[in-house]
Amino acid sequence: MEDYRLLVDLHRDGYRQGPGGDSETELAIRLSRLDEKEKLRILDIGCGTGASTIVLASLLDCQITAIDIFDEFLTEVGHRAKEKGLENQIETLKCTMDDLPFAIEEFDAIWGEGAIYNMGFSKGVSYLRDFLKPEGILAVSEMTWFSSKRPKELEVHWNEEYSEMATTSAKIKVLESSGFSIQGYFPLPNKCWKKNYYDAMSARFDDFLMRNEDSEDAKAIVAAEKQEMRLHDQYHRFYGYGFYIAKKL
Ligand code: SAH
Repeated sequence: MEDYRLLVDLHRDGYRQGPGGDSETELAIRLSRLDEKEKLRILDIGCGTGASTIVLASLLDCQITAIDIFDEFLTEVGHRAKEKGLENQIETLKCTMDDLPFAIEEFDAIWGEGAIYNMGFSKGVSYLRDFLKPEGILAVSEMTWFSSKRPKELEVHWNEEYSEMATTSAKIKVLESSGFSIQGYFPLPNKCWKKNYYDAMSARFDDFLMRNEDSEDAKAIVAAEKQEMRLHDQYHRFYGYGFYIAKKL
């Protein structure tokens, strides 16, 4: 099985496919002030199985398009939307976030939890801006160094994983120099990583390995996740997801 098939297999039963939490999605909504507006048109990029999509649709008067590159995730978004009676507000679309089939200035808000890194933060911020109406909101969570001082082992690991690792102030600078003003920022609390993401994923490891007959590729994926968790246990004070809420000027 190809590597990405295995990753989908590991993550498809997850409530989230990255660190986050419903109350943190809610907090970002409050900071965006979108709840004061009506009939919003929203795009959720890299929606996974739809954790943020469902919170947005529940709390806002909106029409959401949730996109991802994997059918398996989008099917789950559809199921969840139905379960919650939100199917009239949510449509899913398989497409890539760096080649969007939408009109310029179509959206009041573009949401992306743990997803914009797939196209790179700087490129993503300026590309997505075109699809926002004036004063539209970009709300994204993004890997961030919480301090300019950090342990070498951690720095080597994450710089290798993601070339755009940078501090909060550097990320804010990218947003400001791309024509956004900052409406809010907060770092995701540790429970969004540990409880909501890593512990939930760890509970799926045994079934995942069994389904994939303990293949070397499956074992390598579990080993890499465990290494990431070890670093997180030890060093989570120094890095994590920053949630950036920015308005297009
Ligand atoms: N927002 C979800 C998922 C985060 S994981 C959550 O917070 O739970 C990142 C998601 O981005 C995955 O679902 C992955 O399939 C999707 N993805 C990866 N590359 C993408 C691309 N180029 N375009 C759209 N989605 C992409």
